[in-house]
Amino acid sequence: MKAVTIDHVRKRLFVGLLSAGLIGTGLLLAAIWYFAVNSSESMLNQVLLVALGTMLVGGILVAAFGVGGIILTILYARDISALKGPIRVAVSTFFPLVLAIGRFFHIDKDRIKHSYIEVNNFLVRSKTLKLSPGQILLLVPHCLQKSDCPYKITVDINNCRRCGGCVVNELLELRDKYGIHMGMATGGTLARKFVKDYRPRGIVAIACERDLTSGIQDANPIPVLGVTNERPFGPCLNTQIKVPLVEEAISFLIEGKEQMAS
Ligand code: SF4
Repeated sequence: MKAVTIDHVRKRLFVGLLSAGLIGTGLLLAAIWYFAVNSSESMLNQVLLVALGTMLVGGILVAAFGVGGIILTILYARDISALKGPIRVAVSTFFPLVLAIGRFFHIDKDRIKHSYIEVNNFLVRSKTLKLSPGQILLLVPHCLQKSDCPYKITVDINNCRRCGGCVVNELLELRDKYGIHMGMATGGTLARKFVKDYRPRGIVAIACERDLTSGIQDANPIPVLGVTNERPFGPCLNTQIKVPLVEEAISFLIEGKEQMAS
């Protein structure tokens, strides 16, 4: 019950900031409209203001449907296909604004990104996905590998000797158990290459909040379930992951289980 409440709070942060961005843009639009109507400026200036205002109206309408779609999806725990486009546009267009508002209120960037990942995961889980294992890619970061491991597994993950010294061994066991693809990325370029090579229809990605956020947006429209790593030794060094969370995400993509209660 407690975890469910925390999940809700996490999602609320992103949705709240997104709504604040929408309201702020609406106020900006009202100001533009006011100046356009009351200005004694040249015709050209007025036309430019009206054009800008029209673009903002379009953006706001799409974003309003998007934010509404996210809230309805969270409330009803169902995919609302008609609002998929606006949700995607609202999230990707307003994301920088959400971060800027968060900065203004001194909200930790990682907390906002974590909230975004929670919202993204919820939206993915609201769909019914029954993918075959070959359509799933497990993307993992190289910092999960033990730092003093001598084997170069970023080139070929099968170079891992499965000594059990780090979690890579358990993730490879998951790969073999489910028959999915797995790639270890050192950054966005390699991650994009795996996506290009395997052409997945669903991705389970492990990374820090920053990389997961950009990865989810890069992979769009491919659904990505993000699992944030743990960093007991600081960023990018011997990071860890709760393997059951990864397995649950993989089995969701395969079995298309019903949305978890929110
Ligand atoms: S399981 Fe062992 S061999 Fe494989 S990456 Fe980890 S430390 Fe290296």
